[in-house]
Amino acid sequence: LAGNLARLEGYLARFRESGVQNHIGGRACEAASGARFDTHSPVDGSLIAGVARGGAEDVDAAARAAKAAFPAWRDMPGRERKALLHRIADAIEARAEEIAFCECWDTGQALRYMSKAALRGAENFRFYADRAPAARDGQALPSATLMNMTARTPIGPVGIITPWNTPFMLSTWKIAPALAAGCTVVHKPAEFSPLTARLLVEIAEEAGLPPGVWNTVNGFGHEAGVALTEHRDIRAIAFIGESRTGGQILSQGGPTLKRTHLELGGKNPVIVFDDADLDRALDAVLFMIYSLNGERCTSSSRVLIQDTIHDDFVARLAERVKKIRVGHPLDPATEVGPLIHPVHFDKVKSYFDVARADGATIAAGGRALDGPGCFVEPTLFTGARQDMRIAAEEIFGPVLTAIPFSSEAEALEIANAVDYGLTGYVWTSDVTRAFRFTEALEAGMIWVNSENVRHLPTPFGGMKASGIGRDGGDWSFDFYMETKMIAFAT
Ligand code: NAD
Repeated sequence: LAGNLARLEGYLARFRESGVQNHIGGRACEAASGARFDTHSPVDGSLIAGVARGGAEDVDAAARAAKAAFPAWRDMPGRERKALLHRIADAIEARAEEIAFCECWDTGQALRYMSKAALRGAENFRFYADRAPAARDGQALPSATLMNMTARTPIGPVGIITPWNTPFMLSTWKIAPALAAGCTVVHKPAEFSPLTARLLVEIAEEAGLPPGVWNTVNGFGHEAGVALTEHRDIRAIAFIGESRTGGQILSQGGPTLKRTHLELGGKNPVIVFDDADLDRALDAVLFMIYSLNGERCTSSSRVLIQDTIHDDFVARLAERVKKIRVGHPLDPATEVGPLIHPVHFDKVKSYFDVARADGATIAAGGRALDGPGCFVEPTLFTGARQDMRIAAEEIFGPVLTAIPFSSEAEALEIANAVDYGLTGYVWTSDVTRAFRFTEALEAGMIWVNSENVRHLPTPFGGMKASGIGRDGGDWSFDFYMETKMIAFAT
């Protein structure tokens, strides 16, 4: 840990000196108003740096830069775009430690996960780099009298608004396909975690990305975020964040008819039937809620357990939860670090009281750790019912709610009885049941006998209050591009 802290200081020096600036038209800059806000580390509450507090004027400058850069970027041959995006991936890999360390300090996420998240960011660029040359491809759909053809063309400058959980990886997940498609970008990172978005745009330009193709405006949702969603020159908004914010973004973009892609919250179930491989299921249940501090949209925050195995499974779960190592995110042994911010810390803690008031049992954890820092104990609620708030609301922390069920029909009813529909996880050795159950489960992404393992060509997205639209594979190009139809008389 001591060595890591010393290296962290080296990486933070630049932010301490010049703050976290915006990046518009190839230039690092302060907000036009000169305003800044402070960002603090959730590890000990200490000040990291001042951050440019962008507003409508900055968003306008960034949108103009993105608009000016668009024609040349759109017309760059796909193979050149491919080479450039690979160079960005190389540069991310070369600075992976710096990215991971800054992310840990800024968000509280444990290094064991953030070092992988930085490399996953590079992989996102490589995946879409390879697809860039074919992004415009269409199809021929001949009829009796016409040769009908389709072709895709990038939609124009787009706005990308990202949340504070794994901010580096999620930013690359949205920005890489936008660039591969030929769009230019204005990125508004989350105000709680601005450091690595700043590194990312700088890395891209050092790798040769032309000025204005990618612009970053820091700031708050109600200022910079609103301005971006309302800007006339921004053709589409790709958003990741809370369901409530997603609704606001839809209304804000209404007057300018913004194409909008929403990746929102979840209250995802993992269903464990008594015929499952229970050792594997136990490991996966633990991993999917207690990794990444449980601050993960795809986390399985409800575990539904068949009554025949319930007591034993829950006892083994509680025993393992109590052993999870909470600590400094830069300590390689740490599994759970501090939560992102005091506001979120208060929200997660409040559910300990909600659980008690609802009559659930706290089988593990249920306390905040003494300060400084936003640390909570990994927590397991048992004896819960689906009508309790702890079973319906997104807590977004290392907090799991266990609910018993007796039949497949009851499991399905409980699983679907939430507003959300992002992911689901099913553990059973009965293949027929797995097909039947997954068909009826209301979730955009479902894994059977597996934790969440992302395969980039597959669609990613949610149903119900968890989102609108999909990305991944070619789905991202459908969002960032227009499909044209051209028909020739034959
Ligand atoms: P949030 O909605 O509070 O903020 C997300 C971003 O939106 C921030 O950059 C914020 O500044 C901006 N914003 C806020 N109000 C805005 C407005 N009115 N107009 C424009 N921009 C606005 O979300 P958060 O708390 O940062 O992130 C956590 C949430 O994100 C959780 O609900 C989580 O489930 C969700 N999430 C979903 C996915 C997914 O793929 N489905 C992935 C990660 C996180």
